[in-house]
Amino acid sequence: SREIRLISRPTGMPAPENFELATVDVPEPGAGEVLVRNLWMTVDPYMRGRMNDVKSYVPPFRLGEAMEGGAVGRVEASNDPAFQQGDLVLSMKGWREAFVAPGGQLEKLDTQGLPPQAFLGVAGMPGLTAYVGLLRIAALKEGDVVFVSGAAGAVGSVVCQIAKAKGHKVVGSAGGAEKVAFLKEIGVDHAVDYKAEPNLAKAVLAGAPDGIDVYFDNVGGEHLEAALTAARFKARFAICGMISQYNATEPPAGPRNLALMIGKNIRMEGFIVSFNADMKADFVRDLSQWVSEGKVTWRETVKEGIEQAPDAFLGLFSGENLGKMLVKLA
Ligand code: NDP
Repeated sequence: SREIRLISRPTGMPAPENFELATVDVPEPGAGEVLVRNLWMTVDPYMRGRMNDVKSYVPPFRLGEAMEGGAVGRVEASNDPAFQQGDLVLSMKGWREAFVAPGGQLEKLDTQGLPPQAFLGVAGMPGLTAYVGLLRIAALKEGDVVFVSGAAGAVGSVVCQIAKAKGHKVVGSAGGAEKVAFLKEIGVDHAVDYKAEPNLAKAVLAGAPDGIDVYFDNVGGEHLEAALTAARFKARFAICGMISQYNATEPPAGPRNLALMIGKNIRMEGFIVSFNADMKADFVRDLSQWVSEGKVTWRETVKEGIEQAPDAFLGLFSGENLGKMLVKLA
């Protein structure tokens, strides 16, 4: 079985040399253990943070060891009565083709008719992130005009669709014509190709002439500045991610117009999805309804084979993905 290890810590943009493809023997499962063959693994922007040797809400990846991340696999052998051969399971044992782990580290997956890999995207962590950020952190309320950056990605595309399902006007920003076309397909009222816009704030205001009430930030930097400029009185900003800064080698400039927060009485709040797991049951209920009504759909960008995993990960930073970036393993 093969796995991907981090062998050196990147400075700036990670490179293929930071990773190593290794072959290992997968042991027989011992007492209480389960042997799983992974079908799908996810690559996510937050993994860039785990490549740095700094203290954060998750510990750094250890050099010379297989990386970690979400995966869906199938049980091949089990010494834990809670799991049977053939069961689908979710784990954090991504970046490897197969593994043995105590049953307690696995979550049995009831797909309820969805493809299993959806639980790494729309029906999994990214989908819950969209739900938490929009409904709890930004406290979406009737009449709000919503601006979403990274709108064609895993989290952003769900944010756009939840806001549309609830009847809001949505402005979405993403890079390139294909992504803009996708945003229109999922009902975004005004789609901005930020790569083609010399003045982002102006482009946002073109779709929301009275300004925005909610900003869902996936990108940071110029997008955050544009949102501050376009914000209306008492706007709420859910600070979810700042992918434009994850590979920065110098401390990035702060939002130059941050002082607008004062006069506009803006509330800006960061969050991590895992500290909001109490919303999961509501999310699962609402999402299944939206999916059955056709109000939430999703796209995947799939690379095949574990050897493609580093490439898939790097592709997140050049916007190679429309919707969720995934690696298909078997
Ligand atoms: P995406 O599927 O959105 O993939 C990343 C996208 O980011 C790319 O497709 C690209 O789209 C865009 N991007 C990359 N570099 C830049 C840049 N320099 N400027 C603008 N856009 C850029 O990833 P996710 O949906 O998984 O994650 C989205 C954000 O949410 C990330 O910031 C992530 O860290 C954050 N996140 C936060 C969580 C939390 O708990 N707070 C949980 C999950 C995710 P484009 O082509 O449009 O540029």
